[in-house]
Amino acid sequence: MSYIEPAPIKDKENPLESMMSRFQIAAEHLGLNQQIYNVLKSPVKQVIVTLPITMDNGQIEVFEGYRVIHSNILGPSKGGIRMDMDVNLDEVKALAAWMTWKCAVVDIPFGGAKGGIKCDPGIMSAGEMERLTRSYTMALQEIFGPDRDIPAPDMGTGPREMAWLMDQYSRSYGMTINAVVTGKPVVLGGSLGRTEATGRGVMVTALAAMEKLKLNPFKATCAVQGFGNVGSWAALLLDERGVKIVALSDISQAYYNEKGINISDAVAYQQAHKGSLIGFSGAEVMPADELLFLDVDVLVPAAVEDVITVHNAKDIKARLIVEGSNGPTSAKADKILNDLGILSVPDILANAGGVTVSYFEWVQNRLGYKWTGERVNRRSDRIMKDAFNNVYETALQYDVSLRIAAYIVAIDKVAKTYTFRGGF
Ligand code: NAD
Repeated sequence: MSYIEPAPIKDKENPLESMMSRFQIAAEHLGLNQQIYNVLKSPVKQVIVTLPITMDNGQIEVFEGYRVIHSNILGPSKGGIRMDMDVNLDEVKALAAWMTWKCAVVDIPFGGAKGGIKCDPGIMSAGEMERLTRSYTMALQEIFGPDRDIPAPDMGTGPREMAWLMDQYSRSYGMTINAVVTGKPVVLGGSLGRTEATGRGVMVTALAAMEKLKLNPFKATCAVQGFGNVGSWAALLLDERGVKIVALSDISQAYYNEKGINISDAVAYQQAHKGSLIGFSGAEVMPADELLFLDVDVLVPAAVEDVITVHNAKDIKARLIVEGSNGPTSAKADKILNDLGILSVPDILANAGGVTVSYFEWVQNRLGYKWTGERVNRRSDRIMKDAFNNVYETALQYDVSLRIAAYIVAIDKVAKTYTFRGGF
């Protein structure tokens, strides 16, 4: 079966094109009805808002904000708010669809959404950020809601912005409504375990994949690209389970130690040095990109998009790639990795631990109750392990990669829901 709009194949791939080409392959394997395909490929709602803000110098500056709901058929839509100068509607649309597939893969009752404001949080004062966040919230107060659309942090936003969003939304309705947003400070109803949740899910899926490859964690080596929230927690937790982390990197450079890097030391060093590893003495310095081509068992990209491409995939030597970041592998690189026999645990599965614990945060807020960190971890580990097994079985059933299998699982769930609900 062929679809009307094949994903464009150009030399430079962008995340939307990469996602659409996988979506298309999975849809063909599923024999997805063309009409449902047409429904799924476009977001259900796209909102653009204009946000005039008084800056600290007294001048009024005008910002543009977006909220895209890709799907709300499985439940309220869920997705972060990105504040960055590169934010644009196309990117927000791609990220919103990604959230739909991610929530469906881990079987949580959420649809997918994403928001963004084109701005540079790096040069804005706390007051300016607060005015911008509150203004965005007011502009979208009819869109947001615990049963409608639930934002969360993304690049450029964190618990501070989520607290302002929750407060502004609650003021509008005259009562505290903390379930409108996740990723809040714990004191406002944020969940224990949220900070490490994504890295933890990476660890759980990495161990599950290693088991399938018969790789003993105590004999395995691993390289982690990116040492932020996801990379540092994935490294710490894999290290705790016996995996030797021989290489790490951040935006400045990479660090290599054949005997294994002491991850707690690296985290402590980074915290003491404004988030940078420069000067860390527990490993030798190496050019940042070389980390990808090390002869290790496991590679965890946890930095930025599009790092494994058609140009360098053939140089990857790891047996297993576990995608902590969103979109680290371009669609054209997939085939090269498959031909090399490298197993990739795709982003929509490997990094879904974050949205899983966001879901737990929402559940706790709705219940007016608080779970222990132990309960959060136990339940998220189970969800991640079940999702991995489901995707693995689907890959065997359809004779496809784990990535295409993850899309098959997700699209099948969303498509079936549309078919049962009907109403077109
Ligand atoms: P972060 O900002 O905390 O960390 C990013 C890290 O990558 C930093 O160490 C930075 O120095 C490094 N880095 C940036 N550019 C690099 C480059 N070119 N080469 C090597 N290192 C580089 O971000 P994060 O929250 O850890 O997110 C990382 C990725 O994971 C992103 O793709 C994000 O969308 C994805 N993700 C994050 C979460 C989450 O819960 N934080 C959930 C799902 C997916």
